[in-house]
Amino acid sequence: MTKIAIGLHGGCGTLDRSLQSERDWAESREHIANALRAGWAILKTGGRAVDAVQATVVVLENSPHFNAGFGAALNENGEHELDASIMDGSTLEAGAVTAVRRIRNPVVAARAVMDSGKAVLLTGAPADDFAEKSGLEMVEPTYFTTKRRVDALANLKARAALGTIAKASEAEKHGTVGAVARDSHGHLAAATSTGGFNNKPVGRVGDSPIIGAGTYADDSTCAVSCTGQGEIFIRRVVGHDLAARIRYGGQKLEDAAKTLVHETLSSHGIGAGLVAIGPEGDAIAPYNTLGMYRGWITTEGDIVVATHHELNAMGNINDPGKVT
Ligand code: ASP
Repeated sequence: MTKIAIGLHGGCGTLDRSLQSERDWAESREHIANALRAGWAILKTGGRAVDAVQATVVVLENSPHFNAGFGAALNENGEHELDASIMDGSTLEAGAVTAVRRIRNPVVAARAVMDSGKAVLLTGAPADDFAEKSGLEMVEPTYFTTKRRVDALANLKARAALGTIAKASEAEKHGTVGAVARDSHGHLAAATSTGGFNNKPVGRVGDSPIIGAGTYADDSTCAVSCTGQGEIFIRRVVGHDLAARIRYGGQKLEDAAKTLVHETLSSHGIGAGLVAIGPEGDAIAPYNTLGMYRGWITTEGDIVVATHHELNAMGNINDPGKVT
């Protein structure tokens, strides 16, 4: 069996450490570890990367700590419109849903779209209907709402009224979850899911469900899932740009990813981050904000979970545990 690996991000809109209880920090880290384990369990038994990233993202969508599924951001009307996508790097098959309101796990719907072979992207009410007809778990739109997002929307509206929106923290504004994996057959996959931006315009679609922008996977270069202000990621076609830098520019994954985040995206003055994995299973998760929820299990089975700048220069926490 060749080497397997998995990585995830929980968005670059990470809170300042002081703004959340230790209990909440511990729980969000635990949910990241659980999400990694869910994907790893599939990879370890010879399963596919595309199944692993889906399983990982489902765990994050079910957690209130991340802006995807339960706990997602609210639009300017105080409603949820969720976006998700998934891509299989071995076939370049992809699926996505945008602005869905009733699907408990939007990434599962993205996968169903991909497997249907009839479309890459379904939007709005027809996407909800497709999911329902496909037998996926449906919920009332209020299922996704948490107090934290209601408060964030109120704060952003107050800031907008006062003209201080530019001072809003990345955590108040946005977040996303995503996963990348390499399976034992050498195949890569990526998946991303988000509630988008707090106080976003109704009908606004970000980069997360746009194949080539927020999500991309191609066995020969990389699998990548992005987080940050989606409008810039769409305009920069970030996911595909990462693959193109490797394929046409001959750049190494690490150099290409760091340049994209710290130079290209930072030049727009936005918060940005991504998680990517290469054909050998090497994972990288650069970001330019206060923190980014992230974690990975290396090809050696070491599990790493981080939220802020607690990693050493090698990108590892000092004492990574072994995955169990
Ligand atoms: N990229 C997401 C969007 O624009 C938000 C985020 O990742 O923070 O919808």
